[in-house]
Amino acid sequence: MDPMIKIENLTKRYTFKILALKGISLDIERGDCVGFLGPNGAGKSTTIKILTGLIRPTSGTAYIDGNDVTKNKKVALRSVGCLVETPDFYPYLTPIDTLTYLGKIRGVDDLDGRIEEILKMVKLSEWADTRVGSFSKGMKQRLGFGQAMLHDPDLIILDEPSSGLDPKGMAEIRDLINDIRHKKTIFLSSHLLPEVQQIADRVALINKGEILAYDTVDALSKKFFTVKEVEIETLTPLTEEQIKMIGGYEECAKDVKSTVQDVKKTGERRYSIAFVGETEECRNELLKWLVSQGIPLTAFNPKGLALESIYMEMIK
Ligand code: ADP
Ligand code: MG
Repeated sequence: MDPMIKIENLTKRYTFKILALKGISLDIERGDCVGFLGPNGAGKSTTIKILTGLIRPTSGTAYIDGNDVTKNKKVALRSVGCLVETPDFYPYLTPIDTLTYLGKIRGVDDLDGRIEEILKMVKLSEWADTRVGSFSKGMKQRLGFGQAMLHDPDLIILDEPSSGLDPKGMAEIRDLINDIRHKKTIFLSSHLLPEVQQIADRVALINKGEILAYDTVDALSKKFFTVKEVEIETLTPLTEEQIKMIGGYEECAKDVKSTVQDVKKTGERRYSIAFVGETEECRNELLKWLVSQGIPLTAFNPKGLALESIYMEMIK
């Protein structure tokens, strides 16, 4: 079966100087929830605009469900719902008017019933008859999500769905995505790592028009992250000798070598240990060894989000 989205060698040149996409390729399988992660200007919106037929690529192709969006846009986008940044709704229309209008264009069956379901899903039933012009950004975004789901599409494409929302609004959008993630294929762009990490099964990392990595969150962490920092706290300050001893740590856990590269004092009874060891077993060995050497531990914390470090490292 064709993947849900197949992007092949896509390039987009806006001007002589701006090459926004440098030949990206990406397959998104059915049922996956893929995060498209990259800093501002990386090329996320450009990719999504091409995918949803808003602009044409300079070269390359994109297929949705096997249909070329550049050649057969109408067929390709039949079962796609999208939310592209902040949707512009007519301010004098109510959610019911808006969804009725869009539902008719899309030929939705039993439209009234479906609108009721959608409004309930995005928690706007109470506001069904209020003009959208008076809505908060979060409410508009929820309506935007609702319109994307209106015709019950198989694929949902979201471009920075929580951009400009406050934490509550972001959490609401995240909950909506979570509610559908096992029923639909989802492609969601964001420049916010925590958002992608919380929602997506897989991450495609894009920067400067190139895909740098595409894998599961776990696999990415394993692949790129080998130096870990472990922060420890001790009951009493360590002696110079103890610090030196920790600095010389070298062990093998299940054939994976791990070493301590550096120990830094970061507080009265706090130390940061720069540690090379890829697996959790390595960390477990280090912890056991510290205890066996009589280090009076009161805390042992691996520091930093693995993916955060990868992200920051890669988008430099
Ligand atoms: P992202 O969504 O990841 O922030 P974009 O796809 O919007 O990135 O932009 C990628 C690059 O293309 C940026 O350098 C941006 O300035 C440029 N760009 C985007 N749209 C246009 C346009 N309409 N005309 C010229 N340059 C553009
Ligand atoms: Mg964008």
